[in-house]
Amino acid sequence: MGVPQEHAVITRLKTKRIRIGSVDVGGGAPVSVQSMTNTDTRDVAATVAQIERLEMAGCEIVRVAVPDQEAADRLGAIKSRIRLPLVADIHFDHRLALAALDQGVDGLRLNPGNIGGPEAVRAVAAEALARQAPIRVGVNAGSLEKGLLEAHGGSVPQAMVASARREIALLEEAGFDLIKVSLKSSSVLETVAAYRLMAETCPYPLHLGVTEAGTLIAGTVKSALGIGMLLAEGIGDTFRVSLTRDPVEEVRVAYEILRAVDLRHRGPEIISCPTCGRCEIDLFGLVEAVEAGLAGMTEPIKVAVMGCVVNGPGEAKAARVGVAGGRGQGILFRRGQLVRKVPEGELAGVLIDEVRRMVEEDKRRT
Ligand code: SF4
Repeated sequence: MGVPQEHAVITRLKTKRIRIGSVDVGGGAPVSVQSMTNTDTRDVAATVAQIERLEMAGCEIVRVAVPDQEAADRLGAIKSRIRLPLVADIHFDHRLALAALDQGVDGLRLNPGNIGGPEAVRAVAAEALARQAPIRVGVNAGSLEKGLLEAHGGSVPQAMVASARREIALLEEAGFDLIKVSLKSSSVLETVAAYRLMAETCPYPLHLGVTEAGTLIAGTVKSALGIGMLLAEGIGDTFRVSLTRDPVEEVRVAYEILRAVDLRHRGPEIISCPTCGRCEIDLFGLVEAVEAGLAGMTEPIKVAVMGCVVNGPGEAKAARVGVAGGRGQGILFRRGQLVRKVPEGELAGVLIDEVRRMVEEDKRRT
């Protein structure tokens, strides 16, 4: 545990800073958002296209699976066509790690304990150090050694931390310290307990994640809860939301988590009510249209889309721009001031234009 970092509510634990390509991780750097492609890495065009979509969504570090030599051989071609830092995910074979480094990747994800013995670890550590490419030690609760579980009385968090320490020691013994650590479990509570335990003594940056989190709703809830709890406690330097879904959705969820804990804000925040019997406009349609119209905007701005005049004007006023529905129309607010009434059919277009205009005004001012 390092020197605390100041935040309005959250005191972030300070870890050692490492650099993955152009992105700083740890040591108080902004919590970065990662994702992983689900294309065949050997298919360069498909992988590059997915990485570009991830970048557009705000992904800052991307990882690709490297299951064989052919995939490793394509990494240089992928790297030359993308801007994001590229991390190669390796298991079992240190030659793939060496090949990935040779192809110019910015970092590795591997567990030194499973790449072929001390010689292999030394070779990879020396090459990664020469290229200043960090290595993430990634412990997964599902693949813990039986001996570790027995030694810790079946306590999975304790065993996960012990496993991470063992992996870290192998790298440190090889003179390598550009390390990042993850301790993932599909159980939210186990994940949180393991990271808390690790954070007490680990000087290295922590990569958060709940593994095999699941489908969009279940996975979002598990990730938001697990990652959110840790971030709110100041633990975590970078993270990946893992969903059985297009990885672009992982990035969108990641930014909502960061926004919810007030660590980073990207893109418009749409405040909308659930509607009730008082609502006299098609609010669901309006919210969808506004969200679609503002997709791709990166500037943070609070936009209220409310169903009626009971709570609507209050929320709409608190937001930078907002509407509150009435019968067949809505009231438009800007910076807390009532602007005018707008017919329902024009509400989405007017609101989207207002948001864009405000963002442009803000840009001119700064
Ligand atoms: Fe119902 Fe109005 Fe509240 Fe929306 S803002 S939930 S429509 S009372």
